[in-house]
Amino acid sequence: MVAAAGGGLRRVSLLGATGSIGSSTIDILTANADAFVVEAVTADRNAEELARIALRLGAKVAVVADVEAYPALRDALAGTGIEAAAGAAALVEAAARPADIVVAAIVGAAGLEPTLAAVRAGSDIAIANKECLVCAGDLFMAEAVEQDVQLLPVDSEHNAIFQALEAENRSEVERIVLTASGGPFREWPIDRMAAATPKEALAHPNWSMGPKITIDSATLMNKGLEVIEAHHLFGLGHDEIDVLVHPQSVVHGLVAYRDGSVLAQMSLPDMRVPISHCLWWPTRAAATTRRLDLAALGSLTFEPVDAARFPALGLARSALAAGGGATNILNAANEVAVGSFLRGEIGFLDIAATADRVLAKASAGRLPSPDSVAAALALDAEGRRLAREAIARQPAA
Ligand code: NAD
Ligand code: MG
Repeated sequence: MVAAAGGGLRRVSLLGATGSIGSSTIDILTANADAFVVEAVTADRNAEELARIALRLGAKVAVVADVEAYPALRDALAGTGIEAAAGAAALVEAAARPADIVVAAIVGAAGLEPTLAAVRAGSDIAIANKECLVCAGDLFMAEAVEQDVQLLPVDSEHNAIFQALEAENRSEVERIVLTASGGPFREWPIDRMAAATPKEALAHPNWSMGPKITIDSATLMNKGLEVIEAHHLFGLGHDEIDVLVHPQSVVHGLVAYRDGSVLAQMSLPDMRVPISHCLWWPTRAAATTRRLDLAALGSLTFEPVDAARFPALGLARSALAAGGGATNILNAANEVAVGSFLRGEIGFLDIAATADRVLAKASAGRLPSPDSVAAALALDAEGRRLAREAIARQPAA
């Protein structure tokens, strides 16, 4: 754990600054400019937007992953005193700069290497990038323990569990429950889901998020990835992690103790609540977000997951039970399939079907648990290759 900078200011780096979690984080940082200093901000390739963010936050360095975006970033930051850089190595360097807390908000397996670099540098991590735990959770958690870094879950369900667990003895926990909104197709019959368009799948009822996680929320693969994420973050078996559909997205997670007590965390569905919790932890600070009014809401409802219409959750559970690199392969196949669906190449139900086929094929061989970034990326590449192959063999959507 890195000591706080002088004057009580917390040094923050933001990986994935141009995304949805990035923009919620920027809201909090700008509203509390007297409490935080920003070290690095990063993005994939949107140089103009990243330069605007770097200026707004007074960051010391801005990095784009895509080297082709470098000239635009350099020109936009010329004369500002903010350093511009590009490429995979620069991204890892930025993540490893001394900071008290690094917000890991890159989407997908692309976040693994920089986020792990931040762990190895000893910074605490506000972790939104669940895919890095799905790809290399054992490695990631071992490094976090080794470096004595605090992992603060940004994902609303995991943040809820973290809050409900904090004051209690972990050995008394019987099970945890992650809630799921059910996504836009919660009540759709399966034949209608088969014909769902990207536009329909992107219309999430409660949350405004990046496109990949929004599609994952529609298939419920997001909840599957979250079960895997919870397994790593909280050291629980998949049979100790339940999922409950809760369409209002107000109760985010519950911890059931063996004496029959259940502790839950509630808030309006606004990612600034869990992000704020992480940025200020272990203290709490006043936030400007709208407050929860239960009387106005009137009722909260819960229902089980329909496994037949949402097979992705079961797939993720099987991959977790299979252990090894199966969850890495599942994640890679899902990333490729989501991309194909968004481009209109495959149907909505083909996303889980592709992941299923890839998992079955990959599991025929040995799937060692990745013990290095290189091993994790090799598995990821294999999962992607198998997914592209499976999609090429599928009839067009
Ligand atoms: P997003 O697509 O809105 O943003 C992703 C960010 O990552 C962008 O800044 C993008 O430039 C950057 N990025 C993308 N590909 C990259 C690459 N190859 N190299 C470097 N940077 C790259 O995504 P998001 O919705 O903000 O989600 C980010 C992460 O947070 C995901 O893992 C998601 O599962 C998790 N999460 C998001 C939410 C939410 O409300 N958005 C909630 C819980 C968890
Ligand atoms: Mg979540």
